[in-house]
This record gives sequence, structure tokens and C-alpha cells, in this order.
Amino acid sequence: MTNSIPSLYGSLVFTDRVMRDKLPKDMYKALRKTIDNNTHLELDVANSVAVAMKEWAVENGATHYTHWFQPMTGFTAEKHDSFISPTGNGEVIMDFSGKELVKGEPDASSFPSGGLRATFEARGYTAWDPTSPAFIKDKTLYIPTAFCSYSGEALDKKTPLLRSMEALNREAIKVLKILKNTSVSSVSTTVGPEQEYFLVDKDLYKKRKDLIFCGRTLFGAPAPKGQEMEDHYFGALKPRVSEYMHDLDEELWRLGIPAKTKHNEVAPAQHELAPVFDTANVAADHNQLTMEVMKKVADRHNLVCLLHEKPFEGINGSGKHNNWSMITNTGVNLLDPGKTPAENTQFLVFLAAVIQAVDDYADLMRISVASPGNDHRLGANEAPPAIVSIFLGDELTAVLKSIENDTYFDQSPAIQMETGAHVLPHFIKDTTDRNRTSPFAFTGNKFEFRMLGSSLSVSGPNTVLNTAVAESLSQFAERLSAVPEGHLDHEVHELIKDTIKAHKKVIFNGNGYTDEWVEEAEKRGLFNLRSTPEALKEFVSSKNIQLFTKHAIYTKGEIESRYEILLENYSKTLHIEAKTLLEMMTKDLLPSLLTYEEQVAEAGAKKKAFSASISTIREEELLDKLTSLYEQISKHSEELGAMVATAEGMEDSLASAEYYQSQILPKMDEVRICADEAESLIPDDLLPYPTYSQLLFSI
Ligand code: ADP
Ligand code: MG
Repeated sequence: MTNSIPSLYGSLVFTDRVMRDKLPKDMYKALRKTIDNNTHLELDVANSVAVAMKEWAVENGATHYTHWFQPMTGFTAEKHDSFISPTGNGEVIMDFSGKELVKGEPDASSFPSGGLRATFEARGYTAWDPTSPAFIKDKTLYIPTAFCSYSGEALDKKTPLLRSMEALNREAIKVLKILKNTSVSSVSTTVGPEQEYFLVDKDLYKKRKDLIFCGRTLFGAPAPKGQEMEDHYFGALKPRVSEYMHDLDEELWRLGIPAKTKHNEVAPAQHELAPVFDTANVAADHNQLTMEVMKKVADRHNLVCLLHEKPFEGINGSGKHNNWSMITNTGVNLLDPGKTPAENTQFLVFLAAVIQAVDDYADLMRISVASPGNDHRLGANEAPPAIVSIFLGDELTAVLKSIENDTYFDQSPAIQMETGAHVLPHFIKDTTDRNRTSPFAFTGNKFEFRMLGSSLSVSGPNTVLNTAVAESLSQFAERLSAVPEGHLDHEVHELIKDTIKAHKKVIFNGNGYTDEWVEEAEKRGLFNLRSTPEALKEFVSSKNIQLFTKHAIYTKGEIESRYEILLENYSKTLHIEAKTLLEMMTKDLLPSLLTYEEQVAEAGAKKKAFSASISTIREEELLDKLTSLYEQISKHSEELGAMVATAEGMEDSLASAEYYQSQILPKMDEVRICADEAESLIPDDLLPYPTYSQLLFSI
């Protein structure tokens, strides 16, 4: 098997090599031009590509094609059409045209649009994204597409990401030109998402309504053993997990997804998979596909892959570390400090741009990862805090400080630039940053944005990051373009210096989990947006609308629609959770509690009947405890039910989300505390649901 991996790799992908083989030379060249320079695709080229794609797909067993897109649900969507075309004599041919490749018209009326798409204009359209390769899955040719309303508003996650990559490219090129780097013609953003997940046994999963409906447990007493022994992290893989991972890798490789690293994570039953990075757009598509394949392969192994951010209380949740950088078409990573003074200057300018971007748009970064599931992680003692700050490491921080204070001089003056400041040591990966408490850490030649929840599409966070950095670069370009000849070096130095001065408040190299940091961050004036509703309010601030509209990422209407969708999604998620919890209490936990009460009462009565002098004090105490828990769970559930009814009647989406967050969630916690206590008393054979011990330690 091992020998054949290179030939297996990408075997289900319409790769560049396949295109070159299958397309007439001039058509291949025209397509390449479209992909590389983002130019218009002519219909004759589209037709030619369609024929080649269909031929290749049919050869590889495909019977259908689908425009694959990423609506605001956070999942992917697809509608399958077969290639067959009747010839009129009772026979069919396999047919696929350029028009069908380039544009689809799915009915958009059932996808969230946040009011953008009036129902009389239910049609949306999907447009081929030639920068992300087509692939075959389940006998279907998948064509990655963007999804828009008929009047052109984005209804998906891909469109804004592509727009933001374009904005960053535009502004980065301006700055590079000013810095006299004229060999570069385009800059892409690169992303490598590390994906965490849990595996649980499918038979156990099926017994828990909360896992089925909500993806997380809504209650459950802690297992006697948790993650305290730290024996799972990087531990040897259990055979069943190992088989799953092998199978998963192979399936991903076939789809051209460069799955590279896999290991056990900190929590029991928790694992991680990391691919080799790619351009942001392809990485986003691949990550969506990876999550899908993870679930599918798990099913084959009688497992369930949980991608929820916090499936188990008291146990680490799952995140997704978004490694991000910028790369030129000449292959230079702009966040690599480099070895020569010129590279250093370039690096420092781009580093400064990122620092300014994160400080100016920390609220948007936080918003981009806001979800009901992620609220259980951020700010807890396992994931980065909800406060966005940057970790640079001591070495780089010292370099910036010396630039700020004009004190930095390299040991070898011979290679100093005029400004005397820009020679940096070539960075070796800063090992001090196993400071995993930072939400946004520089790790040698890229930034690692660690606030993402495990189920999140990476498109949103990268859209924000690209746009915010594009804005810094745009400001830099404006300032530097006004500088007279001969003064550039000096002005670049001043620019870096001013940027550090203005934005160093966002740099923090200490422990992000402490209360002192929360206090300190407040003093520094940094945002601490604790919950999704609180964060989302900032999305529609005029500063943020201005940013997105200036760079043509979102129109004001698109922002408002997304704001609505996110708020609604928050309320709907909590609504489902509250209803599920109520059902589990009423139909299952309370009845078993009652059964146990009866058994205890009966046992006490039997003892007494045997001899009136035997003490039944223990039975009575236990009975009191059980009765009281029964009372409390019933009472809290009743109150929760009434609150849900109130929420259902609320019209305003922000008010509703705030009500779920501030009233319903704490009430669910009250139910949970009693339920967990009851669970710890009820014997296993009377418990209606598999326990944490069973779920976490059975594989
Ligand atoms: P870690 O120490 O966090 O495991 P790795 O070097 O293994 O770091 O990288 C983690 C992820 O970062 C991988 O997906 C990797 O491909 C990605 N990565 C590395 N370089 C870049 C880059 N320049 N841009 C984006 N992602 C990158
Ligand atoms: Mg990492």
C-alpha cells in the first residue's frame, strides 16, 4: 500500500496534471491564465474544460455532477444532476456543457439569507471557482462554487473569502512596489487548519438524544478519571482509533487533501489532524471536506466523530488552530523574517501591518469565531481567552522595542541599512511559544489564530484577517507613496516605529488564562466580548461596516444579513438544546430517579418489616436526597419550559439571543447541576443514558 500512495494521492481530483493531459494546449493555457490572474473565463474555454472534466469524471465512475457550495448554515450544500442526456431514440449520452460547469441555479429559498433574498426572487446562482479543483466523491463530480443571490449578493462563505484574498493581494502588491520589490505580481494568503475532534462509540452515541440533536452532552456526571493524568496527549493510538485514522488519511489523500499530522489530544477520546497548508480558499474547501469525511469514515468504523466545540463538560473542548500567512507568487513567505536586510524590512512592514490589523479589528476577529458552541470554550481554562491579543515571543518583542526606542543595532555594522535598524537574526521557530494560552501567536513564519471552534468554517476568520491586514497595508501604501525619493528608508523605519507605538497594547506574551490578564487587558482598553450576542453587536458598528465596504468584501446589506443569520442561529441552537434537555429530564431521567426512589423506599420498608429495631437511617437519608433532587429537577425544568415559551414569542433577534444567553443558559445549568448529582446516585443499570465514563473510555 505504502508504495502506491503517490499514485493514490489526488486520484479523485481534477488536478493541473489531468487538465494538461486532457485539454487542448491553447485551452489549457487560457484556463491557467484565468486561474492565475483571476481573469474572465471565455465560454469556449469553459466548454472545452467541461468536456475534459466530464470525460475524466466518467472514466472514474462518476454518473452525476454537483455544484458544491457553502451556504450560511456552516455546512456544505449540493444538488446532484446526472450527466445523462436523452438522444431521442430511447438512448442516452453523457453530456456536460461549459454553461453547466460555470453556472448553476439552485433554488435558494431554503437557505439562510438574513432577509437578503425576498422569496419572490428565490433563485440563487452558483458560479464555478476555478481556483479550487473539482473532485469526485460518491460517484459524483464535485465542482466548487460560490453561491450568490440573483442580484449578486453573497449568500455563502466562499464569496467573501475570495473577495478578501483579492483585497489583500491588491494592497500587498502596492506596498511591495513601494518597497521596490517589483518581481512579485501576486500575493496569496495561506492557511493550514489543525482540526481537533472526539471519537465515541456509535452504539453509545445513539442512546443519547443530546449528542444526536445538539452534538454535545447537556448533562453527565464527571468520570472518576478525566484528563488529569495527561496520559492521552500524544499517547499511543488505540487499535480502533489507529484503523480509523489510516482509513481517514487514505480517503483524504485520494481527494488531494494533504493530511499530514495526527495524534491524540489532551482529553480522553480526543484527537487532532493537521494538513499541509494551502491557499486560503483551497484550505477552506479542504477543511469543509475533511470534516465531512471524518464523520463518514467514523460511521464505517461504528464510531461517531464529534466536531462540537464542547461535547463534555469538565473535559477540554475542541478547537481549530488557523495557521495563516501570506506568500508571493515567487514563493516568498512574507512573514518569514529572512536573512538579508531587505527581507527584514519587508518582513517588519508586513508584521507591523498584522499587528495594526489585529489591534484595530480585534472585535471582528472575536466575532468571526463567535458561536454558541465556542462560547463554552473561550475564556475557560483550556482555550484562549475571549480577549484578542498577540503573542510575539521575547526575541521579536525585543527587536520591536529597540526599533521603537531607536536602540537596536546589529552586531555586524557592515550589513546595517542606513536606518541602522532592520537586521534581524534569522528566526528559529520560537520554542517559547508553547505558550498555548495566546489567541493569536507568531510561530516563526506564520500566525496561529487559535480561537476558532472545531466545527467552524475557516472562511469567516480568514475573511476578517485578510481584510483587516489589507486595510493596514492600504494605509501604509498611502503614507509611503507620498515620500520623496531618497527618504524611503527613513520613512519606512518611522512607519514601523509609529505602528508599534500605536498598537503595542495588543501584544501580550504572558499567560492569557489568568485573572490578572483580564484586568490588565481592560486597562489597556482591549475588547473582552464574553458571549456571542455581546460580540455580534459589534459586527454592525460603523467602523466595521466601513472596513468591509471600503474593500468591497461585504455591502452594508450583506453585513446586516449575516448579523441576522448569526443571531438567529444562536437562538435556534439554544432553543434546540433547551428542548432536548427538557425532554431528557421529563421522559428519562426523572422516571429513573422515581424508580430508584421506589426501590430505596421498598428496601427500607423491607428492613423495617424484618425487624423494627434495624436502623433505616441511611435509606431515609438517601430517599430524602433523591426526593429533593426530583423536586428540584422538576421545578427547574418547569421554569426552563416557561422561559423557552417566552423566548419563542420574541420577535427581535438580538433581544431573543440575549435572553437565551442571560436567562436560559443559566437555567439549563441549574437543571444540569441537579441532574449530575442524581446521576451520581442512581445505579448504572437504572440510568437511562451512557455515562461520561462509558463515552470517554470505551474505545
Ligand atoms: P505546530 O507546531 O503548531 O504543530 P506545524 O509547523 O506543524 O506547527 O504547523 C501547523 C500547521 O501550520 C500545518 O497545517 C502547517 O501546514 C501550517 N503552516 C506551516 N507554514 C504555514 C504558512 N506559511 N502558512 C499557513 N500555514 C502554515
Ligand atoms: Mg499548532
